[in-house]
Amino acid sequence: MVQGECNCGAIAFEVDAELNDVFICHCSICRRATGSNGIAVVVVEKQLFSWIRGEHEMVTWKKPAADWQIWFCRICGSPVPGINDESRMFIPAGLITTGGDALAVVHHIWVGSKARWDRICDDGQCHETAYQE
Ligand SMILES: [Zn+2]
Ligand SMILES: [Zn+2]
Repeated sequence: MVQGECNCGAIAFEVDAELNDVFICHCSICRRATGSNGIAVVVVEKQLFSWIRGEHEMVTWKKPAADWQIWFCRICGSPVPGINDESRMFIPAGLITTGGDALAVVHHIWVGSKARWDRICDDGQCHETAYQE
């Protein structure tokens, strides 16, 4: 069981599973969304995910002409879990407060367009563009 929440606590969620793999996307869109070197996420099956509270406090923004969408807390601005594809959600890894002890960065994606100042210093596998399953 893994739980997490946004900075103000209005939005909270849980995942009925242990989680392992953290993906960091270094693309320019994710960098602007977080103001950092990218976004660290964990991808989970939808049926394992549930909201504890605050789903109505979420707002979303979709980048025009791009297959990219982010969800965030309308009060504190934290990125929050959103739809990854038809069957899976993505969870910003930094929101996790309980559980997740086995989490580790396993994949870096869109490394080919990372910020020049971004140094990748862990054991994660680097992918120039998207992750291919
Ligand atoms: Zn919040
Ligand atoms: Zn990205």
